[in-house]
Amino acid sequence: MKKIVILGGGESGVGAALLAKAKGFKVFLSDKGLLSDKYKEILAQNDIPFEEGEHTENQILDADEVIKSPGIPDKVELIKKLHSLRIPVISEIEFASRYTKAKIVAITGSNGKTTTTLLTYHILKNAGLNVGLAGNVGESFAKQVIEDTFDYFVLELSSFQLDNCFDFKADVAILLNITPDHLDRYNYEFQNYIESKFRITQNMTKTDNFIYYQESEALAGELVKRNDLSVNRLPISLIGEVAQGGYLANEILKVNYNNEIFEFPQAELPIKGSHNVINSLAAILVSKSLGLENGQITDGLKSFQSVEHRLEPCGEIKGVKYVNDSKATNVDSVFYALGSFTEPIILIMGGVDKGNDYRQIEQLIEEKVKALICMGTDNAKLLEFFGKKVPMIFSVDSLQKAVNLSADLGTEGDVVLLSPACASFDLFKNYEDRGRQFKAAVAALGE
Ligand code: ADP
Repeated sequence: MKKIVILGGGESGVGAALLAKAKGFKVFLSDKGLLSDKYKEILAQNDIPFEEGEHTENQILDADEVIKSPGIPDKVELIKKLHSLRIPVISEIEFASRYTKAKIVAITGSNGKTTTTLLTYHILKNAGLNVGLAGNVGESFAKQVIEDTFDYFVLELSSFQLDNCFDFKADVAILLNITPDHLDRYNYEFQNYIESKFRITQNMTKTDNFIYYQESEALAGELVKRNDLSVNRLPISLIGEVAQGGYLANEILKVNYNNEIFEFPQAELPIKGSHNVINSLAAILVSKSLGLENGQITDGLKSFQSVEHRLEPCGEIKGVKYVNDSKATNVDSVFYALGSFTEPIILIMGGVDKGNDYRQIEQLIEEKVKALICMGTDNAKLLEFFGKKVPMIFSVDSLQKAVNLSADLGTEGDVVLLSPACASFDLFKNYEDRGRQFKAAVAALGE
């Protein structure tokens, strides 16, 4: 009997273990950290042996195939050993994709994945398609294909998930943008990261739709190099018309798909900012590819609820609007966040710096930010870079202080924006915790 070892016991690892068991493999799950009680119970109930707190090599190196959590880097010794023994190391996505007949919509990019995935899923589901949601969001893909009841899956894929995909094939793929991120996992070579993102196109054929934002510099540059890439290209542009694809003209989103035209006013989108025009055009193109009627797409776009922690409006107090963009953990997302407002901005930024280069947002900050509140361990870099570029700059060591200060500074018509450009691990558990604490502090101001 073929033995499958699963490394990492989170949602995707436990899902992969359940699928492997259901398909009759011998299964062993190993996690160097601790498993949650919920997952331990599920594994025990299904008679799946597991270990936590260590990786026991003699239980792992006899595997026929290993399914690795996207969180484990290739450079750890155990993975190197597996490679040298020529034991295939795959991702949960690769494994699960072997067991589904559903059509796959796969979405990646440095920024905008979750928003685009949830919007696409919402439009398709709202139109009555029998569609599942998986990847980086929600329930594990592997777990959901045990029964394989869906006709379509919308998958959010990170570069780490794509790295261990080989035969996985998307029927429709979206590549939103490529900007430097996670370079520590790619030998500090941007090109390696670009190639990882392009794995989303592998195994596609010339009739499969590949949707991408053509003004993303690194993405466009790579496409030029790959001019033999055999896919049906559907570009998105914010600055000019495209023959087949999507673009913005006079604040109207326009899509031309096989000479069918779809139009939608930007002002009616429930999600704001030019980045969300790109995300929406991508979701519309998927919908057209799958044969939805224009009316169904319009309904889906209008009824989409904005996503928590992404430019999420969270109250207006004394004429000052508060916006939670805690998910903005890199400079590019802050760039788009700042571009989404015409009002004067009080910006709360900072946390754990990931080697940020702030030049991309320098000009926007000079133009739009009336006060910059730096919050976190790496304030010194922010204070030095922006000290002379904004009318007011402050350094605080807690979120409560940042919110109180922003309330003192705010006057009618201002926006207080939490858009940190940094990781959250100094003062918070994660970005969700940071966003929730922000919303609670804002709610308390109004009491
Ligand atoms: P991801 O899942 O890729 O991290 P999200 O949809 O969660 O992306 O959005 C993260 C942040 O990135 C948001 O706060 C938003 O400001 C920014 N963002 C969203 N879409 C885009 C885009 N298409 N291009 C650039 N930035 C974006």
